[in-house]
Amino acid sequence: MTKKTTAARACTLAALFLTSASFAMPAAADGEVNIYSYRQPFLIEPLLDAFTKETGIKTNVIFADKGLGERIQAEGANSPADVLLTVDIGRLDGAKQMGITQPVTSDAIEANIPAEYRDPEGHWIGLTTRARVIYASKDRVEQDTITYEELADEKWRGRICTRSGQHVYSIGLFASMVAHHGAEKTEEWLAAVRDNLASKPSGNDRAQVKSIYAGECDISLGNTYYMGKMQTNEKEPEQKEWADSVKILFPNSQDRGTHVNIAGVVMAKHAPHPDAAKKLIEFLTSEDAQRIYADSNYEYPVKPGVPVSERVASWGELTPDSLPLSEIAENRKTASELVDKVGFNDGPSS
Ligand code: FE
Repeated sequence: MTKKTTAARACTLAALFLTSASFAMPAAADGEVNIYSYRQPFLIEPLLDAFTKETGIKTNVIFADKGLGERIQAEGANSPADVLLTVDIGRLDGAKQMGITQPVTSDAIEANIPAEYRDPEGHWIGLTTRARVIYASKDRVEQDTITYEELADEKWRGRICTRSGQHVYSIGLFASMVAHHGAEKTEEWLAAVRDNLASKPSGNDRAQVKSIYAGECDISLGNTYYMGKMQTNEKEPEQKEWADSVKILFPNSQDRGTHVNIAGVVMAKHAPHPDAAKKLIEFLTSEDAQRIYADSNYEYPVKPGVPVSERVASWGELTPDSLPLSEIAENRKTASELVDKVGFNDGPSS
């Protein structure tokens, strides 16, 4: 494939995907970096501006809410993608399994990001964490502590709401249960939680909180940042009332810690600008970038010592489970099989 063809392909892509930014032709020098992003432009633009200011490296962003990994795979060696920004270990490790990533070795990254949030081989790097917590009715739930294990207790019969058991967020949590307790115990637990559900799993994390607000259930599973998104939602102000009807409980904060997942980055296997891509990833792990990136979506920085925003701090203290995300990745398949085996998505059996 000639360079001209590559450039032409990049421009076709740009036409397909782009909203505002212009996607540059691949250049020989590393004066720019091409970013494929599942993360919305408003989340990353302030950071990219700061990166360009600091390094002089221009950034080009293609944003889409699905299909970017497949796109990189289909483009093969001609892909203009340097990095892919995405959320969840399922998607980060999925990119590695698809063969569209390359390892990144960097002293700065290793110094900034604890080992549990990086692929041992360097194929994915976590940039922020989000905890999968319990949203509990302020009116109907008195307790201030909880464990994931306890969700199997009969006292929660008909009181739990959740999204699909096959959603990546659910699978991450269930895979952590497999890692801690083994497949057999996790199967029993999943079946018991299923029987405690108020209804068949459906809707997203915020819809479960709406159900608590409406009195349809008392607790739900959800990611922490949705509290921030509801509390500050000017477009749909009713979400502020949903948020106000619940408190966050951080499961297992008294013992092994709360399950966390990551948003992160991979370098594309055929990155045309690997040096610039590495500089960008290093920049994203730096203290200032960590603060901005975490705050933009009410998440937690992964670099130790970087403070969380006031709003996030107001939900309580997070003690993260120290289980490496690579172990969660390894147990995802088992977790997914167990969800089907117990008929989790069919809802309570009796
Ligand atoms: Fe989400």
